[in-house]
Amino acid sequence: MLVLNCGSSSVKYQLLDMADRSRLAAGLVERIGERASRLLHTPQGGDARERTGPVPDHATALKALAGELAADGYGFDDPELAAVGHRVVHGGQRFTEPTVVDDAVLAEIERLVPLAPLHNPANITGIRTAWALNPGLPHVAVFDTAFHTTMPEHAARYAIDVATADAHCIRRYGFHGTSHAYVSRRAAQLLGREPQETNVIVLHLGNGASASAVAGGRCVETSMGLTPLEGLVMGTRSGDIDPAVVFHLARVAGLSVDECDELLNKKSGMVGLCGDNDMREIVRRRDAGDAAARLAFEIYVHRLRKYLGAYTAVLGRVDAVVFTAGVGENSAPVRQAAVEGLAGLGLAVDEARNTAASKEPRVISPEGAEVAVAVVPTEEELEIATQAYALVTTAGDTDGNAVGAAHRNAAGSTGGTSNR
Ligand code: AMP
Repeated sequence: MLVLNCGSSSVKYQLLDMADRSRLAAGLVERIGERASRLLHTPQGGDARERTGPVPDHATALKALAGELAADGYGFDDPELAAVGHRVVHGGQRFTEPTVVDDAVLAEIERLVPLAPLHNPANITGIRTAWALNPGLPHVAVFDTAFHTTMPEHAARYAIDVATADAHCIRRYGFHGTSHAYVSRRAAQLLGREPQETNVIVLHLGNGASASAVAGGRCVETSMGLTPLEGLVMGTRSGDIDPAVVFHLARVAGLSVDECDELLNKKSGMVGLCGDNDMREIVRRRDAGDAAARLAFEIYVHRLRKYLGAYTAVLGRVDAVVFTAGVGENSAPVRQAAVEGLAGLGLAVDEARNTAASKEPRVISPEGAEVAVAVVPTEEELEIATQAYALVTTAGDTDGNAVGAAHRNAAGSTGGTSNR
C-alpha cells in the first residue's frame, strides 16, 4: 500500500508491506511551489536520500517520489501495489467510511472544499495526479472526519438557528480522525481489552491538538468543530474562545474577516501567548523562569484538564486516558501537569514510567490505577493503509485478487460509503 498525504505545499508518503505492516519506504516533499523545494526519502534499512531544487507543483512532486520508489525497486505499476490510500481532510456528513475514488467521489470531495479550503484542494490534486500515474490502480480516500461521524446529534450540533446551520452545513465535524481511531483501538489492545468494551479519552497533542471521547470504539465527542480551530490550545491556534471576540476585533480593532482568521489560526495558541510553539522550548524557558512561557504552559494545561473533566462526564466511565502526537508522546511535563491532582477522577502518573524514554505504546499510571494513563505513538499512515487495504481486499471478491476487486468497485460505486 502506498499512502499519500498531500498538503497545500507538501506531500508525505509511506510505502507499507501489509503482510507484516512494515514500512518499506517513507518520505516527504516539502516547499512545493517554492524555489528551494526538498525531497527526503528513507528506504527501509537504508540511508535517507535528500534532493533539493524546484518542484513547481504536486504532479512534479509525485513523479519525483515515484522516481525514488522506483530506485528502490518499487514501481507505481508494480502488480504487488494493491492500492493508494489518500488522506482527505474533510468528508463532511457524506463520507463515513474509507471510499474508493471515482469521478463521482472526486466531485463530492470538491463540493466540500468550502468546508476545508486549504486542505481538500491539495488532497484532490494529489488523488488526480496519482490516478494519472496509474489509472488502473484503486485509489482510496480516507477521511479525517469519518471517525467522528458517529457523534450523536446533541454533540455534533451547535446551538444556533437550525435552518441557518443546515443551509451552510454548520456543525461539528472533528478532525485527526484516523489518529483517534488508531490510538483508541491500540490503547484497548495495550490494556488487553476489546475496543468495543473500552471507554477511552484520546489527547492528540501535536502542533494541532484535539481530544476525543471514544465509547466502545465509537467516537461520541471531540474537541474540534466545523474547522480545526475549536477546542484545545494549539501551537498557533487559539482553540475555544468566545465567538464575540471576532465581532469585537472587527468593530473595535477594525480587523477584516481574513485578518481575524489569520490571527486565530496562525498567530494565537502558544505562539500568540509566548512566541514559541515548540513545547520543548516552552518548558525550557519556563524552567529558566520565563513568565510568559510559564503562563502559556499553564493555559495549555488548564484547557486540557477542563476537557479531561468534561469527557469523563460525557463517558460516565473512563478506562484509559491516552496521550499521542508530538507533545503527547514526548512531553512528560505536559502529561504530568495534565493529571496532577486529579486522583478524584482516578487519574495519576507514575513518575518513573512517565519520564522513561520509550517510543513504544506504554502505560504510565501506577500499578493498579483506577484509570489507565497511557502513551500510544500515533500511526496515521499505517491506519490509512490498514483501512484502505481492508476495503480493497474485501470489496466483493473472494479469489484474493485485491486489485481487481477494488477496481471493479471503483468503477461501479462509491465503495464503502454509507450513511451510518
Ligand atoms: P506533531 O504535529 O504531532 O508533529 O507535533 C509537533 C510538536 O510536538 C512540536 O511543535 C513540539 O511542540 C512537540 N514536540 C516534538 N518533540 C517533542 C519533545 N521531544 N518534547 C516535547 N515536545 C515535543
